[in-house]
Amino acid sequence: MELNQVYSGFKLISKNIIEESASETFEFIHLKSGARLLYLKRDDDNKAFSISFKTTPADDMGIPHIVEHSTLCGSRKFPIKEPFVELAKGSLNTFLNAMTFPDKTMYPVASCNDKDFHNLIDVYLDAVFYPNIYSDKNILRQEGWHFELENEEAPLEYSGVVFNEMKGALSSPEDLLENEIMRALFPDNTYSYESGGNPAAIPRLTQEEFENFHRKFYHPSNSYIFFYGKLDIEEQLAFLNNEYLSSFDKIYVDSCIPMQSSFKEIKRIKSFYPIGKDESPEGKSFLNYSFVVNRVLDNTDRIGLSVLVQALLLSEASPFRKVIIDSKLGKDFSASLEDAVLQPYISLTALNANQEDGGRYLSLIMDTARKLVDNGIDRKLLEAALNVLEFRIREADFNQYPKGIIYAIEVMNSWLYGRDPAEYLYFEEAFNILREKLDKGYFERLLREMILENNHGALITFIPDNELGEKNEKRERQELDEIKTHLTKAQLEEIMAIDDKLKARQATADSPEALATIPLLNISDIEAKPKEYPLEVQKENMVEYLWTDVPTNGITYLSLYFDASVILQSDIQYAMLLLDILGSIDTEKRKYSDLINLTDLNTGGIYYNLNAVGKDNNIRDYVPLFTVSVKCLNSKLSETVGILREILTGTCFDNRQRLRDLLAETKSSAELAILRSPHTVMFSRLKSYILPVAAYNDQKVLPYYYFVSELLGDFENKFEVIRERLTSVSKRLFNRHNLKIGITAPAKDQSFIKKNVESLLNALDNAAQASTVHEFKCSPLNEGLMISSQVQYVGKAGNFRRLDKGYKFHGAMLLLETIMRYDYLWLKIRVQGGAYGAFAHIERNGTALFASYRDPNLSETISVFDGISDYLTNLEISDREITKYIIGTISGIDAPKTPKNIGQAARNCYFQGVTLADRQKVRDEVLSASLKDIRNLAEIVDQCMKQNILCAIGNENVIRENSRLFKSVKSIIV
Ligand SMILES: [Zn+2]
Repeated sequence: MELNQVYSGFKLISKNIIEESASETFEFIHLKSGARLLYLKRDDDNKAFSISFKTTPADDMGIPHIVEHSTLCGSRKFPIKEPFVELAKGSLNTFLNAMTFPDKTMYPVASCNDKDFHNLIDVYLDAVFYPNIYSDKNILRQEGWHFELENEEAPLEYSGVVFNEMKGALSSPEDLLENEIMRALFPDNTYSYESGGNPAAIPRLTQEEFENFHRKFYHPSNSYIFFYGKLDIEEQLAFLNNEYLSSFDKIYVDSCIPMQSSFKEIKRIKSFYPIGKDESPEGKSFLNYSFVVNRVLDNTDRIGLSVLVQALLLSEASPFRKVIIDSKLGKDFSASLEDAVLQPYISLTALNANQEDGGRYLSLIMDTARKLVDNGIDRKLLEAALNVLEFRIREADFNQYPKGIIYAIEVMNSWLYGRDPAEYLYFEEAFNILREKLDKGYFERLLREMILENNHGALITFIPDNELGEKNEKRERQELDEIKTHLTKAQLEEIMAIDDKLKARQATADSPEALATIPLLNISDIEAKPKEYPLEVQKENMVEYLWTDVPTNGITYLSLYFDASVILQSDIQYAMLLLDILGSIDTEKRKYSDLINLTDLNTGGIYYNLNAVGKDNNIRDYVPLFTVSVKCLNSKLSETVGILREILTGTCFDNRQRLRDLLAETKSSAELAILRSPHTVMFSRLKSYILPVAAYNDQKVLPYYYFVSELLGDFENKFEVIRERLTSVSKRLFNRHNLKIGITAPAKDQSFIKKNVESLLNALDNAAQASTVHEFKCSPLNEGLMISSQVQYVGKAGNFRRLDKGYKFHGAMLLLETIMRYDYLWLKIRVQGGAYGAFAHIERNGTALFASYRDPNLSETISVFDGISDYLTNLEISDREITKYIIGTISGIDAPKTPKNIGQAARNCYFQGVTLADRQKVRDEVLSASLKDIRNLAEIVDQCMKQNILCAIGNENVIRENSRLFKSVKSIIV
């Protein structure tokens, strides 16, 4: 393609080859409509597309977020209730979602299948440019907010998907603090508003303002279009031009974000967040200092700043973390660099602090920065940080996220603000320059400019309040009661009539003709065979090697699996404690901070896990595995193995102060994790009522949190015991007799890797250890768990393999998950119930679990689960619908995996005893599933739900009101 030439209305304005990212970029402008387009050409079949709009809110009503949901509720060419859901049900997508950011709204999709990719793009473009939101007022009511009124006497209520989603999001102190930071740093521009919507403000939004927002911002002139992967770009440009963009003329869209000017002096703010009524507020304040990066950075400075943040703030060996913990200002410390905004900012937070310590906190940060500037930053710390970031960029392993989607998001960080969209893809030169500048005062200068010579900052003291949750609920109640007193009988009737219409719309299925507008692949487009996860087992010198031979781009992935049945049952929690301690505490050779630097300098990270893996042939059997995983460049393997040897055989647990600090950090991060994802606690409890393997794994969640709290509460007396137990557990555990080694790397590297690993094996203890059987009695404890939250997470489960009725796992069950997720539960729990989401999990081990996410209801949701079996018995769906569910189910199974994840999948199958033939059988069952197969599941689901195994977590009042459903009701945060 030639520069300045026009292709289907698109003029090519720049092109570049980016060697380090093995890619080429082509930047276009669509002449008639003003749309910008970037194509990132790369040899990757997992193609990605995204269209984004710069959306800058001027209030807290959450219009960008509600528009994001609503555009996906039907459009000109696809006039059905929810095209998004139809795509999710029946497309081979590898990514399908839409996201609202503080200043933009993105619609990204990805797929490996050309036909599918085209369909996804067509549906998304029609949705954003021609949504039905203007003609169908029920869309705003459903996705945004509406009144609910059962009868004239009943209390008036608010409902709506985004309304409840945000009630859930803003129940987490971390999210609330993030809002405070943005408000404090950017009081004069769009960033002071919550783009997701504040539930207190959402009900002020009118249909007119909603339409105006879409009209203004969703125009090609305000759009950013992105393509990625191996595709015919000229064909795509022609399609975009002919089908969509040629109908629009370029306009001026005022979505410009004015720069926030700096402050005369650093701001000081006190603000409050809700905690449970019975929770102690003692030592639960957050002290946060945030500041804006005070100048525009070139590429070297941008990466330099990331290195500085990694070294000084994010590393476990961070000097700021150390002084804050040592001075007892906070029990834990966290930090972040946010660069998806016009003016990036950095945040430093002391957790579990006292509200009166704000001033001390700020002085300590300034003093520490000054000392580092004056005395110089530890060179090893900077080198380690450079290595961490470079490894991360080179590996580019984003787990389940397609690379193209990550790049789509990253390019916006510069593109949206008028800079080179490819900025983030260049790194080689910057790393070279930064290495040269290590000794030249560069990082010290950057630190001085950013922290010491910068007034654009805010000190926020974020204080827990036992009453605030209740106050917010009362405020909403009073507001609604007040509104109701001013409504006439006729107006009340109108509200009920509108409500009925909305419910009728929700309950009416789309016509087959309308559904047929959403293009669908054929079963023949799907591979009949499952993807193979290669695994070769070799036994040498008493140790089993599990090899996965895949290309890894010069990286070795090594996992040591120690069978944890050698430890005593009473020691399981101490083994869990090791996960949070190993690698972060001193060894015989070195101080912990040196150990952390050494690890960061040589590896891409060491990870510890203790997980029980269930056996497929007997659901009561499992093997508990203590896993130590590491990844590194092949050139650093020898050093990496040396570090592992040092940690596994030479860790000392004598450092009393460090041990106490680590326990405090662990407790504080466990608490935040519970409040951030209450549903994971609920899943874990629920499953633990059913199978021993799940009860084992549940020990890592609530029981571990209580265990750590108890140790901390009486640390001085318990220190000796802790030290002794940790020492004896590691001695029993890290033994070559109970070790299997998993390696993901190409076959040509085998002998080289083995040679290195052997030096580790020789250092491990060799005395045989007896294994013990760990006993977990499972019974339905049916707990109602209370936290400070405005919503609930409700789950019900059962197990069909425990019933001795010969029920077996069947591929149709995976179809059932898809049907539940996008049809029955979606409709009943999300669309009608107003919850943000719903889950359906049916596992090979027989556990069937249904749950809701950010749910305003509780008992109503359980009735929905109880109705699944009736729904299945009476299910009437066409063959086309079944094909759709089959394709959607397969797309989940076939999601592309990174080399690391292929190795993990191979070893999981190995430990569970699941063979390729087993996976082929399930795949055949999915591909051939019929309506009859699905209806047959009604009986199994009915049997599962009759076991009446329940758990819910959420709002204190709602859990208490429903206490009759539970065997016990308790607050969980201590
Ligand atoms: Zn949302």
